[in-house]
Amino acid sequence: MTGRLIFVLGDQLSRGLSALADIDPCHDVVLMVEVREEGTYVPHHKQKIAFLLSAMRHFAADLRAEGIRVDYVRLDEPENTHSFTGELARAVTRHKPQSVVLTGPGEWRVGEMILTWPEVLGVPVEVREDDRFFCAIRDFAELSSRGKTKRMENFYREMRRRTGFLMEAGKPVGGKWNYDAENRKALPKGHKLPKRRRFTPDATTREVMALVEDQFPDHFGDLDRFAWPVTRAEALQALEDFITHALPQFGDWQDAMKTGEDFLYHALLSPALNAGLLTASEACEAAEAAYTAGKVPLNAAEGFIRQILGWREFVRGLYWTEMPDYGQTNFLNAKRPLPWFYWSGQTKMHCIAEVVRGTRQNAYAHHIQRLMVTGNFALLAGIAPAEIEAWYLAVYADAFDWVELPNTHGMVAHADGGRLGSKPYAASAAYIGRMSDYCRGCRYDAKARTGANACPFNYLYWNFLITHRDKFGANPRMALPYKALDRFDGAEQAAICADAEDFLAKMNTPEGEPPAQMSLGDW
Ligand SMILES: Cc1cc2nc3c(=O)[nH]c(=O)nc-3n(C[C@H](O)[C@H](O)[C@H](O)COP(=O)(O)OP(=O)(O)OC[C@H]3O[C@@H](n4cnc5c(N)ncnc54)[C@H](O)[C@@H]3O)c2cc1C
Ligand code: SF4
Repeated sequence: MTGRLIFVLGDQLSRGLSALADIDPCHDVVLMVEVREEGTYVPHHKQKIAFLLSAMRHFAADLRAEGIRVDYVRLDEPENTHSFTGELARAVTRHKPQSVVLTGPGEWRVGEMILTWPEVLGVPVEVREDDRFFCAIRDFAELSSRGKTKRMENFYREMRRRTGFLMEAGKPVGGKWNYDAENRKALPKGHKLPKRRRFTPDATTREVMALVEDQFPDHFGDLDRFAWPVTRAEALQALEDFITHALPQFGDWQDAMKTGEDFLYHALLSPALNAGLLTASEACEAAEAAYTAGKVPLNAAEGFIRQILGWREFVRGLYWTEMPDYGQTNFLNAKRPLPWFYWSGQTKMHCIAEVVRGTRQNAYAHHIQRLMVTGNFALLAGIAPAEIEAWYLAVYADAFDWVELPNTHGMVAHADGGRLGSKPYAASAAYIGRMSDYCRGCRYDAKARTGANACPFNYLYWNFLITHRDKFGANPRMALPYKALDRFDGAEQAAICADAEDFLAKMNTPEGEPPAQMSLGDW
């Protein structure tokens, strides 16, 4: 008879995981399972599935090397029931443990599943807190009750005070909390970007890549450029590479976009962080140490730490304190289906084609591409929040519900009515033109507001303001755009609405084609 069955999920690959803290290698068994249900509830990018399976197999091997017994169920095992509940039930029969222990999951959906386990399994189930974050959910709830989580910025300052990152005698280092205003530069022509550390797939990764190609042939995305860190050692190398070669200029070019350049100065750490190969505190400590050693400027270190200590913790707190209602709202009553070009990339809009290309090749796009290109378009075009969410959850290697949902539902779709952001992230072609070189290679005219050649982002943007005037007209942060809109005469506003209506009606016909590997029935 086994002591405890310790169930480790695919995004819990941390040796310091609470469920593993007091493991007794003589009596306890770790259970890890590869199940189809988790790979298919949205059509996850092939690289995302390969990343998680490879990282899980490596983690299991590391535990075994420590002398820990690991019961690992592979995807292609004939008896695999392909669900967490089914595999746990089989493992309980195999091992007859006194109890099942696990660390709380990152997804509400799995949390609901866990509630059924004591009865289904017939053994006690102990769910421990996931303490790999800076802010426990109960602390976030307590901060919310004191109005400290109304905006990310208030929360972030509170977290700086609590953790002491970039603080000196109770005050922010450098005298300012936030250097974002310095972080909005476009890349100058001829700017030389650093070569980033990527990882050649080893035998384990190659094996799961073949498995994924075999088992999930219809899923979105290419596998041939797979280069994610899949072990703890590789994740540490990726962190080191980022801190040394990219962080010094991360701040300056954080919002920039460039054709053919998919990574720029971004960390490329989110898959490793979200799967647990790296901890948030390791990433923030490394950035602070580089600043203290004079190797990176303050705007870069602060900008990076804010993304993790601020945004990452904030969206997690929001998710767990507002679910399950959070994902149900649709403030802007957006109802259109997601256009096919989000999968195929077949659109004349060069910016979207470019982001979908990078997404297909890398299972990655950086924040501004997600927010201000594909996200912005979905907002302006009134795409149903659930459709946008399913796409973002499927296509990025770092996508897990707790982080993807608030970013998509709140930040992109403004479906939460402003809980996450005080104004919608809506922008015309002027923003994309300023921050990238995309418009130079585009068939549309970024300057034209209406007409056959006008950039769709332009008439859709003004149409969005006209349509939602009742919701945003009185918002002080939207005063400038509404003032600009009011300078257009009635005929111009009518032309904007007509062009927007025409484009939206035809959006799925000349612009995009269903990708060959998916049928309409898939959605
Ligand atoms: C619509 C949309 C969907 C997103 N979905 C996800 C997702 O599923 N998973 C995910 O990890 N991030 C998501 N993000 C946030 C962000 O885009 C990614 O974290 C980032 O692009 C990851 O790349 P990087 O590691 O190079 O990050 P960098 O830009 O270098 O940032 C450093 C780190 O900060 C954290 N971070 C930055 N911004 C955010 C944010 N808004 N929310 C949470 N953490 C943040 C990440 O851990 C990231 O690794 C989403 C953003 C948008 C707009
Ligand atoms: S012109 Fe419009 S569609 Fe073309 S790249 Fe610029 S913003 Fe995108």
